[in-house]
Amino acid sequence: MNSYLGIDVGAGSIKASLVHPDGTVLKNASRLTGAETDSGNFLESLENIVSEMRAPSLTAIGIGSPGPIDSERGLLLQSANLPLLKEVALVDHLRNKFPYPVYYNNDANVAALGEYRFGRGKNSSNLLILTLGTGLGGGWIYQGKLFNGYRGSGMEVGHVTYDPRGPVCGCGQRGCAEAYFSASGFLNRYSEKTGTALLSAEEFFRRAERGEGAASSLLDEGIEALAQLCRGLIHTLNPERMIFTGGLIRSWELFGDGLKQRIQELIFPVFRTYTQILPGENVSGTLGAAALCMEHHE
Ligand SMILES: [Zn+2]
Repeated sequence: MNSYLGIDVGAGSIKASLVHPDGTVLKNASRLTGAETDSGNFLESLENIVSEMRAPSLTAIGIGSPGPIDSERGLLLQSANLPLLKEVALVDHLRNKFPYPVYYNNDANVAALGEYRFGRGKNSSNLLILTLGTGLGGGWIYQGKLFNGYRGSGMEVGHVTYDPRGPVCGCGQRGCAEAYFSASGFLNRYSEKTGTALLSAEEFFRRAERGEGAASSLLDEGIEALAQLCRGLIHTLNPERMIFTGGLIRSWELFGDGLKQRIQELIFPVFRTYTQILPGENVSGTLGAAALCMEHHE
């Protein structure tokens, strides 16, 4: 029997699961990280977690982390949550220490693979995923294979322009879709509009649900920007299924129907008949990272 070790480098911790090819989680482990984590102790934590999770059945290691990364060279280039990390060669480090192949990709691609293997994307080999979290990311699985772009940096769909005169995005440009529909986008725009800093996207959505003017209008504008982005993606890629995942889909009831309806209005009638638009199961990052191994070991 084979098993895969899926590692998810997230905000605040490194999580790992030993996973059977059918998706059964055999064992979990985690290590805390924080603002003081430097490259040295980050690599040490990774190494410890692999040592702890080693098993005779283990055949490969998969890792997902927020970008920007260089998947070709196996580098975590930088991380908003771990500011001391810079160009960390995590893949080479683990390959030198352990006798396993190591695969690495960004968290949106890993989320796409997780939904494809174990979530709502099962049995759909042309699957488009949008991750609605702190930022807005994308993953595209075409004919059962993950699309990476020339050097692993494709599908940065959050930085497609909605309005070139719009609000400044985290990337430095103006009016990206991410500036309108993401946790960071909602919080930034809400504080600009009202002068009140909210602590979480949940609070933003609660205010929108209560019908508070500022939050409601920002959510409506966010839905419009996201629907326009989806319009472009559906016309360009012609997916069979389009799945939304990430932390913000906990509020799917509040915006999901409106979003679907607006996308339907915007796309060619021929696409309306068969493009499935639905929320994902938020398959864990460690399962997604294990699915990354399965790309190479089947
Ligand atoms: Zn941007």
